[in-house]
This record gives sequence, structure tokens and C-alpha cells, in this order.
Amino acid sequence: MIVTIDGPAGSGKSTAAKALATRLGFDYLDTGAMYRAVALAMVRRAIDPSDTPAVLAVLPSLQIEMPPGRVLLNGEEVQAFLRTPVLSDGASKVSAIKEVREFLVPIQRRIGQRRQIVCEGRDQGTVVFPDAEFKFFFDADPLVRAERRYREHLAVGLHTILEDELRAVLERDHRDRTRADGPLRQPPDAIVICTNSLTPEQIVDEMERRVR
Ligand code: C5P
Repeated sequence: MIVTIDGPAGSGKSTAAKALATRLGFDYLDTGAMYRAVALAMVRRAIDPSDTPAVLAVLPSLQIEMPPGRVLLNGEEVQAFLRTPVLSDGASKVSAIKEVREFLVPIQRRIGQRRQIVCEGRDQGTVVFPDAEFKFFFDADPLVRAERRYREHLAVGLHTILEDELRAVLERDHRDRTRADGPLRQPPDAIVICTNSLTPEQIVDEMERRVR
């Protein structure tokens, strides 16, 4: 069985997806981490993630593997480096490149094959697993989402300001919703959850109830 969770940055997908997978005994796939790993590869080579020809020149040399709970970029464990503002922005930029999506989507489908899995991202219920048994779509006000990112960054020692987080959230929203390939869209058959005033536990309770 495949359960997909799509939604904009900061809508609470990752926390809910991980917790739901644990409760159901399913695997968990964070597809945003795959785009972040591609962005990391570019940043390390001093390549601008929106420079399509330069990104495409490096792409064939990348190998991305997602063993449970880990992210391997050419065999190196990179999970700990991925959740920074620079890579949020970089991932959003590389994810607008068609070939990057064509590179990652088949890997995601392979991982999902014959598995019990909760997958989260932007296009999981629309493009990657259109036949998933359960689809959720999360949303929340931009300011609530920016505050979540602000607190997340603070918790790992990254000092930002709320205005910058809000600007970044709005920019990523715009890029995610307007790109030609795999844009962020609510699947027509998704269960919509507005996470504005729900605790993570309330969100997961509701999802678990639906799936069971
Ligand atoms: O979910 P997360 O914030 O880690 O995703 C980082 C970026 O990767 C997003 O802003 C989005 O542009 C991109 N992404 C995507 N498709 C996915 C998952 C993430 O385009 N399935």
C-alpha cells in the first residue's frame, strides 16, 4: 500500500509522514531530501542550482540512494547537511529542471514498488504514484509555515529572521506551483488537511483513522 502526502513547504508533511509510517509499520520516503541532495551536489561544486546547463552536466555523475532513514549521495551519508535555508532554496531551483525530475521520479517509483510506504513531497499523489491507495494534501497559511521553519532552524542553531523565512516560503510556493513539470497540485482524490491549528498528534491521529 502506498500513502502519499503532498503540500507546500512548512505544512507539516515530514513530521506527519514519519509518525504515520511508524504507527502503521510502513517505510517512509522523504522525496524533498532527494532534491536537496541534488542541490547539495551543485553547491559543493559552486554551481548555481538554477544554471540548467551546468546542473545537467553534473547530473549523470550523481547516484542517489535512500535506504531507510538515510540519504546517500554517491555513497556518502548526507542527511545531516540537507535541511539548511541554502539547500531549501537550491532544491526548489533544481526541482524546476525537467531532467532532474526525470532522474528522481523513476528512483522514487522503484523505492515504492511492492512496499508499504508513506511518501511525501509535492507530486507524489499526482505524478509519481497516481494510483496510491491513500492521498493526503496538507495546507497552512504562509505565516504559520514560515514560523514553523523559523523554529526548526533555530532548533538546529540557525539564526534567521521571520521576514526572511516568510519571503523564502512564498518564493518556494510560487516556484513549486508554477513549474511546468510536477508542479505542486492538490490531487483531486486527496483528503485535504489544513494544519494551521492542529497539533502534529491530532494530524497523525486523523490520518491513521482514515487509513485504518
Ligand atoms: O519538502 P522539502 O522542503 O524538503 O523539499 C525541498 C524542495 O524540493 C521543495 O521546495 C520542492 O521545490 C522540491 N520538491 C519537489 N518535489 C518533491 C519534493 C520536493 O519538487 N516531490
